[in-house]
Amino acid sequence: MNTKNLGFNTKVIHSGSFEDQFGSAAVPIYQTSTFKFKNAQEGADCFSGASDGYIYTRIGNPTIRVLEKNVAELENGFDGVATSSGMSAITSVYMALLGSGSHIVSTASVYGPARGVLEKDFSRFDVEADFVSTSDVNNIISAIKANTKVLYIETPANPTMEITDIKACAEIARKHNLILVVDNTFATPYLQKPLDLGADVVLHSVTKFINGHADIVGGIVVTKEKSLYEKIRHAMVYMGCNMDPHQAFLVIRGLKTLALRVERNQENAVKVAHFLETHPKIAWIKYPGLESHPQFELAKQQMSGTGSMISFGVKGGLEAGRKLMDSVHLATLAVSLGGVETLIQHPASMTHAAVSKEDKLKAGISDDLVRLSVGIEDVNDIIADLNQALEKS
Ligand SMILES: *Cc1c(COP(=O)(O)O)cnc(C)c1O
Repeated sequence: MNTKNLGFNTKVIHSGSFEDQFGSAAVPIYQTSTFKFKNAQEGADCFSGASDGYIYTRIGNPTIRVLEKNVAELENGFDGVATSSGMSAITSVYMALLGSGSHIVSTASVYGPARGVLEKDFSRFDVEADFVSTSDVNNIISAIKANTKVLYIETPANPTMEITDIKACAEIARKHNLILVVDNTFATPYLQKPLDLGADVVLHSVTKFINGHADIVGGIVVTKEKSLYEKIRHAMVYMGCNMDPHQAFLVIRGLKTLALRVERNQENAVKVAHFLETHPKIAWIKYPGLESHPQFELAKQQMSGTGSMISFGVKGGLEAGRKLMDSVHLATLAVSLGGVETLIQHPASMTHAAVSKEDKLKAGISDDLVRLSVGIEDVNDIIADLNQALEKS
């Protein structure tokens, strides 16, 4: 079925799927490592590209292709490359777009390991990286050098909830001949479409909202154009960062309810944010749906909703925050986000522990920052849980 001109909710259910010989309603799991060629000529044609038949699961697999085509349509992109994790989506993009002597400008509060792998590993191959607060695009312009190849942004960023202007970044990227990559994990294509705003590459940790059920780890990259798609697919295949067919099956199943989940996550988050904002124990709160957020207007422009991730500080700093995390009963003290369940964590000692104290401060990750991923439970129960825990902190 051609789903290109249909609505988001229709695409999420049908895009990328194909009819098999038994008329299966669900996408079957093609749990096979290799595929039989009808004859030697067909084998040769698959390898030369004259035929698009399947060869070997690291290179491609029918179950995985459904997910790739589906998310590519949701993001209005050319095609997708599914990966074993969000981090392998990121390293495949780095590997495809950076080389010895090249330079990347990235968001300072980007996902911790996305920064760490550049500073500690790609640096060994003479790749240079600068991390700036990209919510002020002047910082980006000042960081661009003659050898800059990639502008990489995460918006909303993890865990500061800082918003970066994708359209403005696309203009800068065009002017300086850079490839603009956007980590769209926090927003999902339901709330934000970076490729429509001028980005070249969009990527996700599908571990989070796209799968949404805290039962797999995975990633995906979608590009606007064919040439970048081919480069990134090559990097994924040669580094062996492929997704597994069973993993793809679970993500396809989780993805079907993306719009419904994100709507409810967000409806709850707005209520939780309003509750926290006026609570006497809360020192500060950052949620793009509150007028107090520094980029409230920008969020309204480039996103169709403000999502369900909230950062806040408790009066009494780190100690009070620890007390809060130890006192919640309904919210789960765990990293990750974007699932059906409410999760709470402390980035400074957990997800961003590897970032130096100085860089954490520069990136806006204060010691008292608590990150909340609001789930789809009954919102009154989520609020009551936070309320009783705040009383103890
Ligand atoms: C979790 C996350 C990643 C990394 O994804 P994994 O699936 O854990 O490898 C990258 N970016 C963002 C914004 C994330 O939240």
